[in-house]
Amino acid sequence: MKCFNHHTNDAVGICVICGRSLCSDCVAEVNHSVVCRNRCEECKLQIDRSNLSNLTVMNRFASVYGITALIYLLIGMVLLIAGFTFRSIMGIFIIIPLGIIFLISSILQYAAAKKFANNG
Ligand SMILES: [Zn+2]
Ligand SMILES: [Zn+2]
Repeated sequence: MKCFNHHTNDAVGICVICGRSLCSDCVAEVNHSVVCRNRCEECKLQIDRSNLSNLTVMNRFASVYGITALIYLLIGMVLLIAGFTFRSIMGIFIIIPLGIIFLISSILQYAAAKKFANNG
């Protein structure tokens, strides 16, 4: 394989941005990736920067879901305790089922938070 710019030079790498084959004169390295010198360097830097901010958003998502899970868990437990303490019709048919719904939501939120955290 020959360099895209210099047809007599052998290519030593392929640009991760534009896919052109590059010789040792045309190659540049940005964050451990091969890119075109003076052509795709800035582009690669911008992509890496946006990837990094995506990661931050993911982590923020994870912590928000984590906090929501904790709040739901607390509400669910309070409702269950209240339901079992006041064993009225309302307690059994409204407060306890509501508590169970909150506990299930808490588990789902926690699972979602874990999923986001794993992506990061
Ligand atoms: Zn390139
Ligand atoms: Zn070249």
